[in-house]
Amino acid sequence: MPRSPRAGFPADVDVAIVGSGPAGAAYARVLSERAPQLRLAVFEAGPLISDPPGTHVKNIADTARRARAQRDSEGPRPLVEAASTDTMDDYATDRARLQRPGTFLLPNGPQGDGDTGMPAAAMSSNVGGMGAHWTGACPRPGDAEVIGFLPELGAWLDEAERLLDVSAEVLADAPFADEVRKRLSVALDHDRAGDRQVQAMPMAVRRAADGRLLWCGADTVFGDVTRDNPRFELFSEALVTRVVLEEDGQCVRGVRVRDLRTGTEHEVAARYVVVAGDSLRTPQLLHASGVRPAALGRHLNDQPQLVYAVRMRDLPDLPPAAGGGVGVSASSGVAWVPYTDAHPYHGQVMQLDASPVPLEDDDLAPGSVVGLGWFCAKELRAEDRIAFRDDEMDGYGMPAMELHYRLTETDLAAIDGARTEILRAAEALGEPLDDTPPLLFPAGASLHYQGTVRMGDIDDGASVCDPNSQVWGVRGLFVAGNGVIPTATACNPTLTSVALAVGGARGIAAAES
Ligand code: FAD
Repeated sequence: MPRSPRAGFPADVDVAIVGSGPAGAAYARVLSERAPQLRLAVFEAGPLISDPPGTHVKNIADTARRARAQRDSEGPRPLVEAASTDTMDDYATDRARLQRPGTFLLPNGPQGDGDTGMPAAAMSSNVGGMGAHWTGACPRPGDAEVIGFLPELGAWLDEAERLLDVSAEVLADAPFADEVRKRLSVALDHDRAGDRQVQAMPMAVRRAADGRLLWCGADTVFGDVTRDNPRFELFSEALVTRVVLEEDGQCVRGVRVRDLRTGTEHEVAARYVVVAGDSLRTPQLLHASGVRPAALGRHLNDQPQLVYAVRMRDLPDLPPAAGGGVGVSASSGVAWVPYTDAHPYHGQVMQLDASPVPLEDDDLAPGSVVGLGWFCAKELRAEDRIAFRDDEMDGYGMPAMELHYRLTETDLAAIDGARTEILRAAEALGEPLDDTPPLLFPAGASLHYQGTVRMGDIDDGASVCDPNSQVWGVRGLFVAGNGVIPTATACNPTLTSVALAVGGARGIAAAES
């Protein structure tokens, strides 16, 4: 994508948003709708890779252009040019440092004396963030995953589903999807409440008029209302190096932005600053800005993830394709086995159009190879944390990060429970693809890191922000993204973090009305 010349950064705006992933985009969208008088600027460290800004790379039909968009998202450590464009390729390998297309690994992910560390901790740097590369699974949290002190969470989740265009129907009639759900239900539903039984996964995916599946990302969240907002601007290759505070440190004054095309630094005044830079870089920016509450970077939790694959046995005859032809793509037909307190893990069962391991007989019916991914809720501990170095900088010149992280006995027990459940699910569906047991991915591989700027209902030192996502004690400074989620979730977190962003943005809009 050609770089358009930049006229310059504004001297001042009302709201400066750092990061253009789904969480940052949600602030821009809600404020464009509810407070159109406000001047908004999104500053994004990565380049523009797709059009409209934030569009998912899967929606780029041309393979070479899609590969280029992925390489451009991989920040300082891009994959080789010829890397596969499919995030499911090589998925079921036991490589400790699996780098998915569109992401790059934290260089010192495995660090941490005596800790397991987080070898697969990854980020994306591009307009749209990881939301331009994600799978789009958007389940609602349940039982202990739910943030109990937020009475409006249900309404915010409704709004998040609207912003992400979530639908449980769009992939529900893929070939054999009904059969997959039926078999899973027989095996797993006997002790589950109605809304926590096996069902079609709500997905941020929609079908275009011509029948193609389109993945929704930050472009969908921004929507036309943001793109058409004359008071909204998006700056790519613009790294925020510091949130600037008033002298007393209790109120924001703006941001310091480095133009990565020229290396020049600029100060942009803002009454509100929303840091939506992902769970690793949001606390990094706060640390760099001297905002260092005790809980910053702590309670880091990733969802331990097990994967397995089966080939369905006794396939039923397929009914003729419905109008529009429901094809099978790399991840169509997604069933959901929800988290419950009795089963503290979450199953994502994806029908694949190809096997993740080479099979001797490759005459496969599309949708008959099924990948099972079980994510576990991690025991929350303040000791699991990001330590920021003041004497060493990362590739962007920001404080280098070290991850201290360990699985506890409780975590290992949850993983054992998940292993038993995944085998039960597999047995119900068909035969394993080979004789290797379910594989536990290295820490970080889930790409669902939470807790590092966690929300709390009281300022007791165990949280970073209040129920509106405003940092305790710093007026006008908001945090967004998965790092805000304070509960130990096993479900994919983006819907929840977009919901929390809705709550924060509505708070700003209400204060300005
Ligand atoms: P991001 O999308 O990570 O965006 C943050 C942005 O901030 C980045 O673009 C970054 O460059 C920018 N930034 C950081 N620091 C600065 C700075 N100082 N200045 C300027 N810009 C900065 N989640 C799900 O819920 N369901 C799924 O099915 C799912 N599947 C996934 C599959 C894959 C292959 C991947 C890669 C991710 C998946 N995820 C999934 C995770 C999901 O993409 C993230 O949860 C989501 O994108 C987080 O949104 P965000 O806006 O908080 O952060």
